[in-house]
Amino acid sequence: MKKYDDIVVGSGISGMTLALLLGMNGHSVLLLEKSRNIGGSMARFYRQGIPFDTGFHFTGGFHKNGILTDMLSILGIGDQIQPVFIKKEAGNRVIFGEDGSVYDFPFGHAATAEKMKEYFPEEKSAIEKYFEMVSDVCKKTVALDLRNISLSQDWIDEDYISLDQVLDKLTGNRKLKGLLSKYSMCHGTKPSEISFANHSRVSFGLYESVARVKDGGEAFIRAFKKRFSGYDIDIRTGCCITECVDVEKNIVGRFVLESGEEVTADRCIFTIHPKLILNLLPKKYLSKAFIDRVSAFEPTAGFFSLFGVVEDKSTQDKDSEPTILSLFPSSDINRMMDPAYTGDQALVILKNHEKKSGKTHTVITALELSFPEHMKDWKDSKRGDRSEGYMKYKSTRIENIRKRIVGAYPEYSESFRVIDAASILTFRDYLNLPDGSAYGIKQKVGQFNLFGKLPLRNIYAAGQCSVLPGIVGAMLSSFIIGRTIVGKETYSDFIKERLER
Ligand SMILES: Cc1cc2nc3c(=O)[nH]c(=O)nc-3n(C[C@H](O)[C@H](O)[C@H](O)COP(=O)(O)OP(=O)(O)OC[C@H]3O[C@@H](n4cnc5c(N)ncnc54)[C@H](O)[C@@H]3O)c2cc1C
Repeated sequence: MKKYDDIVVGSGISGMTLALLLGMNGHSVLLLEKSRNIGGSMARFYRQGIPFDTGFHFTGGFHKNGILTDMLSILGIGDQIQPVFIKKEAGNRVIFGEDGSVYDFPFGHAATAEKMKEYFPEEKSAIEKYFEMVSDVCKKTVALDLRNISLSQDWIDEDYISLDQVLDKLTGNRKLKGLLSKYSMCHGTKPSEISFANHSRVSFGLYESVARVKDGGEAFIRAFKKRFSGYDIDIRTGCCITECVDVEKNIVGRFVLESGEEVTADRCIFTIHPKLILNLLPKKYLSKAFIDRVSAFEPTAGFFSLFGVVEDKSTQDKDSEPTILSLFPSSDINRMMDPAYTGDQALVILKNHEKKSGKTHTVITALELSFPEHMKDWKDSKRGDRSEGYMKYKSTRIENIRKRIVGAYPEYSESFRVIDAASILTFRDYLNLPDGSAYGIKQKVGQFNLFGKLPLRNIYAAGQCSVLPGIVGAMLSSFIIGRTIVGKETYSDFIKERLER
């Protein structure tokens, strides 16, 4: 039985980041993944040789001194990840269905604020105040400063107030509120429920720059795999822990794997959903309050996804820059993000270009809001064995989304072809999630997430549900845990040395 310093459970962006950070700091690491391949939501899939993205389409954080740029260069993979910025104003567009009004989001924080003032000249001071408050939150957030991150959460006032409360104080203009809440789609929690601080932390990087990545999440997976080989990092796929045993003084001695084998390690860090972590911990060491807290976490919104290509060369885009078109049924984002809302759901249409055998294809991925609450009838169904009712639900949704895509791009009415689709049950089953929500758990005002050391002292939690959702938040959680494990001094020297290279 090999003994490791650390077992990292789950190989999404959080697990890959943590395994590499620990490996680079001289630890022996076992990276455990339940699926056959590593990468989690970063993985792409291929249909007819064309790549499609599952859970990573675009991100912020790639601007100069951006947090993502820094994290990637610390990990030594920055040169292998190539951002493709969306710079054209019309490349990041919102259309409100209630009256067809169109708004573009230019590149850069200051330019976005200016553009908003152009759209709403009478709201100049509200807009200035909002963007100032967003920057202020990020400046005050210790967790966004890679050199000084720490486990102690250092809550600020804006953690205790919702996005809605802030916007209501600033303006009565519903459309402006809707636009300033746009990136709620990137954390999956309604403006009335998310704290202003967390909304700002997610949005700030996106206001600065929005980028796709050449070869999508696969570029990350490829780069991590290459780096892993230089360190003492073992990877086991198709494998998971079923039990934590031999507990003494609240320290787990052995970890039983599904195969019956056992492994020992000084620590085990779970980067998986908190409810899945709860299922694996021996209950007698957990307080009722702890169990109740984790059980009460609510799922974020998810997406019904449609994947397709534009077939006719004459209607394919010559322009290589990707685009994001958000069709929001209403500027009332709370209503739109409520599972009880029954109209057309918010739809984000992502257009990008992929090369296959030397040919460039215009690829369209459309993400339509969907909620675990809508899947109750089929929640116990399994992949490959769903009822007719579910199949009908899926085909109706596919056709509706297809119509909306060609409505937005009439030039593709003949040439757009649907290749595949995924409901949130598909995401649930492929990504081994409890419910298929896109960002794990809602980040509600004042909520105390599952993060850091758990009641069993050598067990830790990280991942997208710990600090912030999205790939930047997921990676950050691993940097914070990495610092805790290797120690403040070692971490500081390491970061300094890597950033000064
Ligand atoms: C449809 C969709 C679109 C999205 N779009 C974007 C986007 O454009 N930009 C963005 O920043 N974010 C996006 N997100 C969110 C983003 O994908 C996540 O925030 C991030 O990838 C989460 O990374 P993670 O490592 O924490 O979790 P995951 O990627 O979910 O990885 C967890 C891993 O753990 C494995 N696992 C689960 N249980 C076990 C177990 N018991 N033992 C071992 N392994 C286990 C899983 O198989 C998985 O590989 C999107 C999500 C979805 C679903």
